Amino acid sequence: MEVLRYDIVILGSGLAGMRAALQASKASDGKLRIALVSKLHAMRSHSVSAEGGISGVLYPGENNDSIALHAYDTVKGSDYLSDQDAVELLVNHAPSEIRLFDHLGVPWNRDKRGKIILRAFGGMSVPRTAFAADKTGFFMMNALYDTLLSFSNVEIFHEHIVTKLIVHNGKFEGMAAIDMATGETRTFSSNAGIIATGGFGRSYGFTTTSYSSTGDGIALAYAEGISLKDMEFVQFHPTALVPSGILITEAARGEGAYLLNSKGERFMENYAKSKMELAPRDIISRAIMTEIENGRGIKNKEYGDNEFVHLDLRHLGEAKINETLPNIKEISIKMIGVDPSNELLPIRPACHFTMGGINTDINGNVLSSGKKIEGLWAAGECGCVSIHGANRLGSNSLSQCVIWGKMTGNEAARLAMKDKKGNEDKVLEISELEEKRISAILGANGHESPYDLRSELWHTMDNYVGVYRNAKALAHAVKKIAELKKRFAHIGIGDKSAVYNTNLRDALEVWNMLVLSECVAECALNRKESRGAHSRREYQKRNDRAWLKHTIVTLEKGKNRITYKKVKITKWKPEERKY
Ligand SMILES: Cc1cc2nc3c(=O)[nH]c(=O)nc-3n(C[C@H](O)[C@H](O)[C@H](O)COP(=O)(O)OP(=O)(O)OC[C@H]3O[C@@H](n4cnc5c(N)ncnc54)[C@H](O)[C@@H]3O)c2cc1C
Repeated sequence: MEVLRYDIVILGSGLAGMRAALQASKASDGKLRIALVSKLHAMRSHSVSAEGGISGVLYPGENNDSIALHAYDTVKGSDYLSDQDAVELLVNHAPSEIRLFDHLGVPWNRDKRGKIILRAFGGMSVPRTAFAADKTGFFMMNALYDTLLSFSNVEIFHEHIVTKLIVHNGKFEGMAAIDMATGETRTFSSNAGIIATGGFGRSYGFTTTSYSSTGDGIALAYAEGISLKDMEFVQFHPTALVPSGILITEAARGEGAYLLNSKGERFMENYAKSKMELAPRDIISRAIMTEIENGRGIKNKEYGDNEFVHLDLRHLGEAKINETLPNIKEISIKMIGVDPSNELLPIRPACHFTMGGINTDINGNVLSSGKKIEGLWAAGECGCVSIHGANRLGSNSLSQCVIWGKMTGNEAARLAMKDKKGNEDKVLEISELEEKRISAILGANGHESPYDLRSELWHTMDNYVGVYRNAKALAHAVKKIAELKKRFAHIGIGDKSAVYNTNLRDALEVWNMLVLSECVAECALNRKESRGAHSRREYQKRNDRAWLKHTIVTLEKGKNRITYKKVKITKWKPEERKY
């Protein structure tokens, strides 16, 4: 086993992780040695698939837009569960981040005079989403990656899966990883760490997220006694292509696409009369499921067993689709042979984003039982600051990733510049134990296949912890996941080789997803109200008197202990959410 010493180690090379690396490097004038560790090649991180755009008020006053209106929309969209001080930070910093990426070379769509165009997104009062066609994430990632390649103090460890965070006496000391190419274990010892491992949307079978979105960093933090926040809030995106689940970006509706039921009706008129197809995602996902439940869905065996509704882009015309949604056109033609310029797209809601995650303070500093873990931050989708509360507005995640990437990069650099000494003995001791644990898993010859456990988990989450929830279904999910966790003790790893052992990697990811899914189901069962993306059949209304609070879940003596925490309200008092 190799132990490498760095000033800062960043776990994850998506938008949040790479933005953090850029900032930490700048803040230290290139003096700090930074390791960026990713289980994938950095440019295959999930962020490359972000399609629709990034939010930010670039032109205050235009269309009557303002920073305050962006904050209000975000708070209302969150169903009043976001911490409003954090939302204010987001909206204040978003415009300068969009401009930074302009300088880094992102080809934002522009009008004839060269001005960056803003597009409409769900739940936003006016168009305020900057975009690069429907490949925004790819271009932002490319700009960051290209820039980082010229920084000699940043070393990227591609295809290294981290399996353990080293936290001792409330202080971060490093992390242990497996080099996928060789199977060797490698420990990164450091006084400053940033977790940026993205969400855990892959805990569901029908999802728009990539196979790598398994919530590893969140589960590793949880194992160290770090608390998680608002885990019951999982976003279902209304328009996932059937049957694959690949995302048809909200920008399609932003550009003017309609939703139609089996009768050809624009049914959103009955659910959100003023916003129609640009209502927030929780409302549209429920509307689609209600149409399907009431017999107005569409069946087509060619697209599998699930019913769907239609997304109609035909009236946008081929030229507009080619210019603003080329990726969507390509995906639809390649996946199901349907050209959206002249045919209807079959879509239904799919798991898309996880609002919950690692409990942090407003600066992204990781918290354990309300206390800061020294030297450890979380940024991007894995961290719950909380901006999105019970329901994220589309295009607010990319802003969150880069703003908290920057902030945590700064914080980590500040600490790393003054605190250089590490606890090498402890790091070595914990790394050796971790190496033994991994080799025991690799040697496991039990009768349970991790892939069977994963399929059963997907079935459970899709069918019992979905758009609409009820006590019976959630209790079933809690029981089933506990059973799957027990069965995990008897898994077998068929592939014993060291080189690119994806069998071992998949097993480690399955465990992480089981741990997090159990938190989701238990926290959802506990929350007896409907708020944002958490919609309970028995408690159909939001109940601010009893439930205007964050859920905090902490691992204590092998059990998930649930407590609650006050929501920070600065300016916007909760009111009825109408669109
Ligand atoms: C299809 C799709 C489209 C979207 N489009 C938009 C959009 O247009 N606008 C918007 O605001 N939001 C969008 N979102 C949401 C947004 O893309 C994500 O929230 C965001 O990209 C997450 O970025 P991140 O940096 O937090 O993590 P990710 O980009 O998910 O990166 C995670 C990183 O962690 C690494 N990692 C994970 N586990 C380990 C481990 N164990 N060891 C080592 N490395 C590890 C991965 O290799 C990767 O580098 C979209 C989401 C989806 C699913």
